[in-house]
Amino acid sequence: MVVDLRSDTVTRPTEQMLQAMVAAELGDNVLGDDPTVQRLERMVAELLGKEAALFVPSGTMGNEIAIMAHTRPGDAILLDDQCHILHYELGGPAALAGVLTHTTPCVNGRIEAADMAQRIYKADDHTAGTALLCIENSHMRTGGIPVPTEHMRILAETAHARGVKVHVDGARLFNAATALGVSARELVADVDSVMFCLSKGLACPVGSMLAGTTEFIRSAHRIRKLLGGGMRQVGILAAAGIVALDSMITRLADDHRRASELARGIARAPGFMVNTDAVCTNIVFVTTEKPATETERELTDRNVLALALDSHRLRLVTHKDVNDSGVEQAIAAFHSIG
Ligand SMILES: *Cc1c(COP(=O)(O)O)cnc(C)c1O
Repeated sequence: MVVDLRSDTVTRPTEQMLQAMVAAELGDNVLGDDPTVQRLERMVAELLGKEAALFVPSGTMGNEIAIMAHTRPGDAILLDDQCHILHYELGGPAALAGVLTHTTPCVNGRIEAADMAQRIYKADDHTAGTALLCIENSHMRTGGIPVPTEHMRILAETAHARGVKVHVDGARLFNAATALGVSARELVADVDSVMFCLSKGLACPVGSMLAGTTEFIRSAHRIRKLLGGGMRQVGILAAAGIVALDSMITRLADDHRRASELARGIARAPGFMVNTDAVCTNIVFVTTEKPATETERELTDRNVLALALDSHRLRLVTHKDVNDSGVEQAIAAFHSIG
């Protein structure tokens, strides 16, 4: 059996999702009449306590649409120095939105309000004004650390007091909420927009959601079309999203328990280091003595797939298609490499 821990995006749709997809009532979503998409968008708006929501093809497109909708070319945006938007979206903010990017330090998954406030610029005759702050929750590159509700509120208040909008890259928002024991709605109560992925731990084949005010979503809708993300009978995909919201959120705690077991098991293997305290959600980072790509190959030979994210750092992500015996197999593989 291959245990695929490269990402939670490798999850296959559930039987219930496939049945819902086959049975989905469809329309032309570019003409605005796909009832299944409409239903999913209403469900998401309700779930997150926002006025409106929009189905988008990917998390990347959702983030980039949000940046474009909240800014004008020549504005500045503020990102943490470890975030997905900065590292893995191909320079989208520059290429698509034409904005200047400032960064603020991220330590253990969080940025500090004081550091952040110092890097907010007011527009004048010489300076690009900061229009948007993006917060990633859970924070992937620091190990899936969730940012607590209270800290989200402080960051949002600090930004808003300076006229800066706040977007949340919540690709794994429900993992964060689960780990913190709060609702996703509470977690994003103070921000202007939020993106989360249906295609990761929630196990849908495709899709992400963007939520915010009616006005923001109206603008996001136009930008989605501009980027080529207007899709026709996309209710086929939205149907899986509805099943995911109904049935895949409550099981995320299982992924977190398995990630924690995986971390503790690997930490005992010689040649590898794991900060087990940092494992709160479904992501485990392993520091390797050898180059991470070498360990990645050795694991692959043992039917365990991981991702070398940095020169000496491997990422493993638990998800619904990894069970307890998969976790045991992965731990055994690390011990056999030594
Ligand atoms: C995966 C991810 C994205 C982008 O999602 P895609 O659907 O892969 O484009 C954005 N932000 C974070 C933190 C992610 O982990």
